[in-house]
Amino acid sequence: MKLGIATVSISGTLEDKIEAIANAGFDGIEIFEQDFIADTRTPREVGALVRDAGLDLMLFQPFRDFEGLPGDLRRKAFDRAERKFDLMQELGCDLVLVCSSVHPDALGGIDRAADDFAELGERAAKRGLRIGYEALAWGQYVDDHRDAWEIVRRADHPNVGLILDSFHTLGRGIDPETIRRIPGNRIFFVQLADAPRIDMDLLYWSRHFRNMPGEGDLDVPGFMRAVMATGYAGPISLEIFNDQFRGGPARQISSAGKRSLLNLLDGVRRAEPSLSFDFPAMPKPTPPEGVEFVEFATRGAEAKALGCLLQTLGFERRAEHKTKALSLWKQGNIRVLLNAEMQGHADNAFVTRGTNICDLGLRVSSASETLQRAVALGSASFDQARADAELDIPAIHGLGGSVMHFVDEAFSDVWKVEFERTAPPDESAGLTRVDHVAQTMGYDEMLSWSLFYTSLFGMVKEPMVDVIDPDGLVRSQALSSPDGSFRITLNGAETHRTLAGGFLADSFGASVQHVAFATDDIFASAMALRERGFDPLPIPENYYTDLAARFDLDAGRLSAMADANILYDSDGSSEFFQLYSRPFANGAFFEVVERRGPYNGYGAANAPFRIAALKRLGRVKGMPVS
Ligand code: MG
Ligand code: MG
Repeated sequence: MKLGIATVSISGTLEDKIEAIANAGFDGIEIFEQDFIADTRTPREVGALVRDAGLDLMLFQPFRDFEGLPGDLRRKAFDRAERKFDLMQELGCDLVLVCSSVHPDALGGIDRAADDFAELGERAAKRGLRIGYEALAWGQYVDDHRDAWEIVRRADHPNVGLILDSFHTLGRGIDPETIRRIPGNRIFFVQLADAPRIDMDLLYWSRHFRNMPGEGDLDVPGFMRAVMATGYAGPISLEIFNDQFRGGPARQISSAGKRSLLNLLDGVRRAEPSLSFDFPAMPKPTPPEGVEFVEFATRGAEAKALGCLLQTLGFERRAEHKTKALSLWKQGNIRVLLNAEMQGHADNAFVTRGTNICDLGLRVSSASETLQRAVALGSASFDQARADAELDIPAIHGLGGSVMHFVDEAFSDVWKVEFERTAPPDESAGLTRVDHVAQTMGYDEMLSWSLFYTSLFGMVKEPMVDVIDPDGLVRSQALSSPDGSFRITLNGAETHRTLAGGFLADSFGASVQHVAFATDDIFASAMALRERGFDPLPIPENYYTDLAARFDLDAGRLSAMADANILYDSDGSSEFFQLYSRPFANGAFFEVVERRGPYNGYGAANAPFRIAALKRLGRVKGMPVS
């Protein structure tokens, strides 16, 4: 099964695009005419550039407004086609995409269009070329793949076939099951795109909001199952028009595209095992069971300050690594590692970004299968030199330059094997486990990050929320394992002036901005934290006045919240309490939360106040520090 991507899907010059696409391991490209025209190379040189990168030139696109034209216009359309055939032969590409006409002078009629395609097929055959016909969702007469197929069927020429595009079928709400009736060998090419469900003009939606399969809301898996059921064995290619991707990093977007196709085909096979197609097997997606450890790269004064902060949060420096400058801080089921190594990944991470979370350990049911799936989806496995006593725990290069370890039952004694206990457990502040990890990235990378978690672990996405920062907008996407035992929130920053964007700039792209710890009693924990000298993020009185107006809260409880700087939210039946640390390092912070009842959110309504409070304590961007 050959996988491709249209050059229009990613940013950069044609050369950048080809390099990024080859790097992501695609088999070929669809060359978008504009990308070619904008280049200074001759068609032959472009063809060579693509082939030298190890890629097939799968499709030349688009050829517009061809069919149904009368008289002189029809003759001119054929002349135009002949010129494109010349170009295709120079490029070394044998298939052209003809999309259904939107020409104001075009005439309707299935037979008229079929006659045009029969003649075009004849002309193409003389040059060894093929024609693929695609129904645009906004085509003037043909806007449905069923009509396009009927035209191809009546044209009845071996060099004329159908091109299917999931966006045009699903975007118009056409049942993809109708594809199953089409003979697979008459489908010449399949283009895929997903899209978020937005009620807007079809053309505008298509040109700006498409995304990778699995990133949107369309039933691309259902579409793909129907395609595979026809016996289709040709290329599967991404054709994504998306403003974020056009401005995003080409390599990352290409890799996310490849990941989306692999994940999709894996899902198709799981959903319909009777379909046989050539695609390598991989372990199924399995959600993590929780966070095994959070590891900071830190040293010197910053390590000391972080240690003090952890102490005030009720953590104990419990054990030291036998061979590394690595200390284990523990409370409840939470492990925080402080890594001061002068070599390897933690050293790189510290040198590049200062104190930051460089490694996230996830508890999984099978570490080896999780690693296999991650690598099959395109992640690079992580390895660095180990001492004899160290366990070989499976790990990958995660996103944003961090490492992700997978810890299962077989590795659960790592804390005894590799670490020397230095202090017995002390009384904790009641923090039990990691509730969620919040990662920050550029908005244009957010969909790729979200796809990483859904494709690898089968995590479930919550609807995206907009968080208002005093200096801009931050989009927040929460993902969780179905039972809520592992939660991630992704914050996409559009400008460096937002708190999230400032963190990204100041930390040179560190990914984890905050970690939230769960407690079963936030009021008791707040008291214990205070006794240890914890300095909470101060929340203004105005917040509590507003809270009293929004919720029917007991006066005693309200004043206890105000006293401990606890924020509150409720979805009616269940409640959420949160308090924050002050920022440390380059703007990272900790959070303590209590969920009462099945509250599934993260206190989004409180985010603007938390952001404003954090910003008051942070440095003012662009202002001299006096
Ligand atoms: Mg298309
Ligand atoms: Mg949070």
